[in-house]
This record gives sequence, structure tokens and C-alpha cells, in this order.
Amino acid sequence: MVQPTLTRLYTLWRAERFKLGYPSWTAPTPWWLRRVLRAELNNYGDPAAYARWSWNTKDAELAALAMLSELFHAPAGGFGYITTGSSEGILYGLLTARRRHPDGMLYHSVAAHPSVMKAATVIGWDTRMVAVPTDQTGAMDIAALVELVDKWGGEPVVLATVGTTLTESIDPVTAIRAAVPGAYIHADAAFIGLPLAARAATAGQELEFGFGHVDSLSLSLHKFLGVPIPCGAVLVGPGPLPFGDRVTGYTGTTERTLSSSRNGHSPLLVWHHLNRLGTAGLLAYAEHCSAVAAYAVDRITGIGWDAWRAHEHAATVVLKTPPDEVLDQWVLACDGGLAHLVCTPGVTRRRVDRFVSQLRSATTGQERT
Ligand SMILES: *Cc1c(COP(=O)(O)O)cnc(C)c1O
Repeated sequence: MVQPTLTRLYTLWRAERFKLGYPSWTAPTPWWLRRVLRAELNNYGDPAAYARWSWNTKDAELAALAMLSELFHAPAGGFGYITTGSSEGILYGLLTARRRHPDGMLYHSVAAHPSVMKAATVIGWDTRMVAVPTDQTGAMDIAALVELVDKWGGEPVVLATVGTTLTESIDPVTAIRAAVPGAYIHADAAFIGLPLAARAATAGQELEFGFGHVDSLSLSLHKFLGVPIPCGAVLVGPGPLPFGDRVTGYTGTTERTLSSSRNGHSPLLVWHHLNRLGTAGLLAYAEHCSAVAAYAVDRITGIGWDAWRAHEHAATVVLKTPPDEVLDQWVLACDGGLAHLVCTPGVTRRRVDRFVSQLRSATTGQERT
């Protein structure tokens, strides 16, 4: 019986205007794309490998990867593909790290995403994981990292989180590189990789977590980009890959990807949005997000409720957990007395206003800070 599911989803559609607690949103899909999305589209094996199965979108996938490679300065000779999300990208990055540093020891901050633990378990490194404390900004504490590397040794593999899930704090990749020379660094830039890269490209500035500083990098593309199917990307610098070039599938393609059949729908949508926006459009989104987030901080602190952002470009507003009646309506993620609003490109000032007026009525007469 799918009817109850459909009814529930139609209701949710109307609740879109209460979406404020999670980093995803839905960018519109034009009708001419929706038409082709009805077909089975399978990007079997490597994006660049010839596919006998012609119902694929590898051309769009390659174009999307070329744009991402340029944004993140990925060198020629590396590899990348459109994944099912950051979790698969992190897993692929750690598989690559293990291939290149078999005696690796994985260092990650205590604020890293739970998928890091899962990936480490899959590759058999769950007993080789060291959690590094964060500083007061929520970023990896470099002095603590150095101490832990001295204590536990191994070939250091550092999982740097660029935009932690709750507070959007940024582990300082160049400081990590300087503190732990020779480390393999994977950047998990799930949500804010794209906006920060667009800002750096536009300003002609060095990208702190781009290639040159990291060995591999992963993104979620259903978050900032608004692709309606969970997906992401992984980019890996030149060097040995997890499965080498050994695997050739029965379709005649090399398979350096984690899964063999991969959906061709999300690469098409990723390409569509990246192509539609270009760097200028991504930058406009980025500026919209941080302006709305700054506005939200002003409005929320204006009614006497604690709220702040981890950095000047942050799209995430951290606030003291609101009362239950507000949480019920707005579906916010909460952790340890804190909650957050995520100002995606889909969030408007009006939505923030409605949130703040509800927070104000729910807390009037209550002790606020
Ligand atoms: C969302 C997120 C992930 C997981 O991404 P999925 O695309 O859901 O697999 C990993 N790391 C960070 C920092 C995230 O915000």
C-alpha cells in the first residue's frame, strides 16, 4: 500500500516552507530533464570508460567532474566520480588512503560526521581511529592533534571536516598539513565545499582545502546544490587507487568506482545545476546563504535568544535549543543543548521571520539566555 506514503509526501510538500533545520533543499528540475529521468540510466563503472550500455549520462558526469575539478584544483591524472553522497565519498577517500598508507592511523575530530566511523569500520580501521578534541570554535585542535600523533604514531591519515554537521566549523587544513607533514589528508566538505570554492575562485584566493593541500575530497551534492536525489562527488589526487586498474567488468569498462552500476540520474542533475549556475551562480547562492544566516542571527539575538555563526561565511546558525513547540513545527536537529538552522539557497528572510516570531511567542515570559 503506497497510498499512505503518497498522502504523507503531498502533505510534506506543503511543509516545505518550514524547512530550516537540515542542509538540503530542492532546486527545481525543468520538465525536459524530468522526461529523461523516467528511463533507467546506468553509469556502469568509471565515468570515462566506454559503456556498451548506451542509456547512460557519462558525458554529463564527465562535464560535471571537470567543473568540480577546476573549482577544487584537482590535478590531471587523478580520479573522481559522482557518488551516492558524502558517506560513499569518505569511504572511497579512506580506501585510497589505506591503499597508499597501509600502516595508516586515522585522526579525525570529535565533531566528524558519523559516516567517518562507518567508513573506518568497513575498511577495518575502527581500531586505528583517534578522535582529536576541538577548540572553542569547534575546529580540530592542532596542538592536541600533534600530541596524539606523537602518542599513537602510524602513518597519519587525517580526516578534516570542512563544515561540521552541527556548527559548520572548519578544520584548518593548512595548519594540519604544517603540523603533520607527510599526512594523507581527506577533506569532508559535504555542505560548504561548493560555496567556499566559488568564493575563493571569484576572489582569486587560494582554496585552503583544495588540491595542493589535500589528497582527496568529498562533497554532498543534494545539500547546497539542491539535487533532489541524494548524491555527492569524490575527487582523488594522482596515485594508486583502491582497486587499482585490475577490475574490468563484463560490460567492457574498467571499474575503479565502489559500486558497479551507478544511477545516471543524479550526475545528469548535478551537471544541469552546475552548468546552469557556473561559478557566478554558485557565488550568488553562497552570498545569499550567508546573508540570510547573518540576518537570522540578528533577528534571533534581537529577541534575546542566544545565536551565533562559526565563521563569517557560515550558512549555519547555531542557537540554544528552542522549546518543543517550536521544534515540532520546524524539525530542527538538536545536540547537547544546541540546535541549528541551515540557511540553504532555498531559505528566505521571510521563512526566518516566521521562525523568529514563533520562537518569540513560545519564549515570551520565559527566561531567555
Ligand atoms: C551530510 C554530511 C555527511 C554525510 O553526507 P551524505 O551525503 O548524507 O552521505 C558527511 N559529513 C558532513 C560534514 C556532512 O554534513
